Amino acid sequence: MMEYEIAIGLEVHVELNTATKIYCSCKNSFGGEANSQCCPICSGMPGALPVLNRKVVEYAIRMGHATECRIETMVKQARKNYFYPDLPKAYQISQFEIPLCRDGSVEIMIDGKTKKIGISEIHIEEDAGKLLHQEGDPYSLVDLNRCGVPLIEIVSKPDMHSSQEAKAFLETVRAILSYIGISDCKMQEGSIRCDVNVSVRPKGSSRLGTRCEMKNVNTFSGAQRAIDYEAARQIAILEKGGTICRETRRWDDEKGINDLLRSKEGAQDYRYFPEPDMPCVELSQGWIEGLKEKIPELPIEKAKRYMNHYGLSEKDAWQICSSFERAAYFDACVMMDERLAKSAANWLLGSIAKILNEKNMEIDAFSVRPDRLMKLLKLSEQGIISGTAAKKVLAIMINEPDDPAEIIEREHLYQNNNEEEIKSLVIEVLNSNPKAVEEYRNGRANVLGFLVGQCMRRSEGKGNPQIINKLLAEQLSNKE
Ligand SMILES: [Zn+2]
Repeated sequence: MMEYEIAIGLEVHVELNTATKIYCSCKNSFGGEANSQCCPICSGMPGALPVLNRKVVEYAIRMGHATECRIETMVKQARKNYFYPDLPKAYQISQFEIPLCRDGSVEIMIDGKTKKIGISEIHIEEDAGKLLHQEGDPYSLVDLNRCGVPLIEIVSKPDMHSSQEAKAFLETVRAILSYIGISDCKMQEGSIRCDVNVSVRPKGSSRLGTRCEMKNVNTFSGAQRAIDYEAARQIAILEKGGTICRETRRWDDEKGINDLLRSKEGAQDYRYFPEPDMPCVELSQGWIEGLKEKIPELPIEKAKRYMNHYGLSEKDAWQICSSFERAAYFDACVMMDERLAKSAANWLLGSIAKILNEKNMEIDAFSVRPDRLMKLLKLSEQGIISGTAAKKVLAIMINEPDDPAEIIEREHLYQNNNEEEIKSLVIEVLNSNPKAVEEYRNGRANVLGFLVGQCMRRSEGKGNPQIINKLLAEQLSNKE
């Protein structure tokens, strides 16, 4: 069988979290009673005139800066004409010949390497409404609340060659969006949606194959599955000597398949023309440049800094940095004590992640704030409590405002570091387990774990495990 290379390009639609919609003063918020957040402008009444929301332009340019795009000084909008019941105007105001941002890139981290994925453009546009289909009803309902919600569409170059790369790209884009604060990034509310373009070609060929576009991809893991499915479908066709037709397909994540929606429409089908109801807007270079100052340290830079400065692994660094809130929590921790950076990362991605997961909660709602966590980590580092006891203390801290030191005192969770006491306890354990000692002497080294466990039990979990291990080894070699 021939070897193939997959090329993936993504179009990511992002809802911006401006206070109002893109062309009117209706509230821009998710939910609400159907058709309660719309006016003559966003519902397309005759004679209503749109006015461009300055914040939308600002937010799109911020994303342009964060992805190293060239920013246009002219905002020119265009009508994209098509009919669908959720679009009462029968056209969407978007951009066509002059997208606001062009020729940028996003750096992703994958398997220990970084890779740049090209961004061909970022443009602004309005969202459409929603159709609601109720099971059993022979009709659909239309909710226009989402009409005129501001979007940016980020179009990548076909630079990704595996579904893992595509997923890493989507995660990185989401992280950047949340760092620069222009979207709430709630996938479950459709704040980020993507269309996936997939093509395959024989390995080594310099021409891209014919691409198919997939719609209805709503999650990042869904995108990964959709890409793998589509690439396999195309390869199977080529292997049988067939040709790929340019088409738009619909991904069904539940069934794990896609089916034909329509043969691909071209730009000419949409009869784009300049939006006649709004003038072009000229932006000053100074204003555009000024927006650069609002760009914070971005996730990938932060991850690299964590790796270089705190010695975190790539996986841990990225896991922290891919969430703005998690990174902010970690930054607050290391600000208090840099030496405990690794330990803070371990707690954040271990015990704390587990608790948050169980409670279905985000880190910013976690009741143990960085200052209290660091107090606990310090006590653990000093050997005042064991790792096991520290976990117990954390569980108590979630429900109480007390400092960890007070909890340790009250619950008698101090670690026992007294060598004399531990030594007598070790001797007791060895005397009462002659069989285990015998087995150990006969070469069964794994019995040691059992003996350590017995000592921990006898110390009611308070014995310092390093000291127990050391003294056990000493006593066992004495006996031989
Ligand atoms: Zn409106």
